[in-house]
Amino acid sequence: MEPDHSRSSADRRDYDLIVIGAGINGVGIALDAALRGLSVALVEKEDICSGVSAWSGRLVHGGLRYLEHYDFGLVRESLVERERLFRNAPHLVHPVPLMMPSFRHNRRSRWLVEIGMVLYDALSWRKTPPTHRLLGRTATLRRFPGISPEGLTGAAVFYDGQLELAERLCVEVALDAVANGAQLMLHTRVTAPLVQDGRVVGVEAVDELTGEQVQLRAPVVYNVAGPWIDRVFAPDSVPEQPRLNGGAKGSHLVVERFPGAPTDVVYYESRRDGRLVLVIPWMDRVMIGTTDVRFEDDPGDARCDIGEAEYLLDEVNALVPEAGLTMDDVLYTLSGVRPLPYEPGVPESSITRTHVLHDHAASGLPGLVTVVGGKLTTYRQLAEDAVDDCMRRLGRRDPGCPTRTRSLPGARGFDGEQLRAELRARGADERVARRLVRFYGAASLEVWSLAQATPALAELAHAPSGMIRAELVQAVSREQAVTLADVLARRTLTAFEPGHGLESVDGIADVLADLLGWDAERRQSEIDGYHAWLSHLDIPDPDGPRSDSFGAGAATTERTRA
Ligand SMILES: Cc1cc2nc3c(=O)[nH]c(=O)nc-3n(C[C@H](O)[C@H](O)[C@H](O)COP(=O)(O)OP(=O)(O)OC[C@H]3O[C@@H](n4cnc5c(N)ncnc54)[C@H](O)[C@@H]3O)c2cc1C
Repeated sequence: MEPDHSRSSADRRDYDLIVIGAGINGVGIALDAALRGLSVALVEKEDICSGVSAWSGRLVHGGLRYLEHYDFGLVRESLVERERLFRNAPHLVHPVPLMMPSFRHNRRSRWLVEIGMVLYDALSWRKTPPTHRLLGRTATLRRFPGISPEGLTGAAVFYDGQLELAERLCVEVALDAVANGAQLMLHTRVTAPLVQDGRVVGVEAVDELTGEQVQLRAPVVYNVAGPWIDRVFAPDSVPEQPRLNGGAKGSHLVVERFPGAPTDVVYYESRRDGRLVLVIPWMDRVMIGTTDVRFEDDPGDARCDIGEAEYLLDEVNALVPEAGLTMDDVLYTLSGVRPLPYEPGVPESSITRTHVLHDHAASGLPGLVTVVGGKLTTYRQLAEDAVDDCMRRLGRRDPGCPTRTRSLPGARGFDGEQLRAELRARGADERVARRLVRFYGAASLEVWSLAQATPALAELAHAPSGMIRAELVQAVSREQAVTLADVLARRTLTAFEPGHGLESVDGIADVLADLLGWDAERRQSEIDGYHAWLSHLDIPDPDGPRSDSFGAGAATTERTRA
């Protein structure tokens, strides 16, 4: 197949709706709007899922914790959306058991946890996963032998969902939007609103790869820039606007599976401050999170600092005494700013996770709406609410939201066992077949057909993860990836694998250079760009103490090259 090298540039400039930001919420809105017949431009400064959607805990959860704030509506909504994701994206979202141990020192009593469990089950009636179970002390130790027995009284086991490959969900939703007519403009930064006769009638934007300025027009503009919502427009391009984003940083540590590590997700109370901490098996490793720290700088600069790392290591070592984790065990970190509403004086953990649609008419920018808040889990409902609102603003006949029962592309006709068998029958080895099904669902057959047509594409592009060359072609020809970081971080997730793909980066860059027509200079700048992107992960300096690198993300280019 001849790859299509062209970027999805704006070949038309007038739309019904402009959506700023291709995180999970922006892509969700673009899909819903396109399916309801609107012409929509989705404009993203970097790539699909390059914002906080990639820095989350990747759980699709009802939010047991929100019951403490009596937020039953949000829990019910989240549980309904969780169930929809089990049905509409079964290749990406799986039920996962969570264990919540009880210790004598806990601030939440065991009976309070039990009431929470009963309520959680009641609010998720007609669900896929089993209802909760209570375990005594002995059963808890049998299920999780590494747990500290000191003060342990038992545990509750309940279910939520896990979305290990959040990037793939965002990519599929975005591509479904494009397949239904949406215009996806990646690496295009919105800089200012277009204002005419006192109304917002579009946006000005700049193509970050070519420097080209573009003007896009639409009667409704949705700012869905997650934690960047207050930073999208240059201050001198707009009248003063109220601050909307609260800025609470959350970090996760990623470590190898350690002695005594649980096989369930474990959700437990911190000894230090009573917050709930998670130990999450993720991509054959373990993610430990999260923290809540006020953060006022550019969300793109959020990094895990040493205080957060110490806090998380102390908590996990208290839970699993034989873990004995130190700073040197931290492979890398994920850190992002939650897009929570700005509520000065309210502790971060108490700020509502419900989304709000903020209309800027009162502050002199009618036509502009900002989406504040939301979670990965509830993106579809957020999109439904936003597009309902948009249809009203446009005065258009609303055919109704089509996404509640709509399967994602990779879920159409999805049967994991059967797909693996078919791939095996067509010549894929077991490891490749498993990976393709896990990443692409039903589309795994399309990816493998590239390798069948051109046998060189069946070769491994990255041996540790089992990624084949055909996936590189898939990324650039069918999934709108245009940079090395797009491919390694958001299409194939090689960036999160051992070694971050650096041992294969030259070979991968060669393949992409051929596909995308890069000259030697561009090829090198792509490799440099990928090294720069890796600073997000705060990978340790092999020559220095681990504690020195926390919060810096610094010198990663040099360190990772070493
Ligand atoms: C530590 C942590 C853990 C979390 N865990 C979970 C969890 O387990 N489950 C869950 O459901 N939720 C979780 N969340 C919340 C969830 O990640 C977010 O609510 C969700 O991803 C927000 O998506 P978004 O699309 O609104 O924002 P983003 O994903 O940040 O997308 C916004 C996009 O806008 C783009 N953008 C910014 N400025 C511009 C501009 N000027 N022009 C064009 N584009 C622009 C950015 O590049 C970005 O891609 C967690 C969050 C954090 C921080």
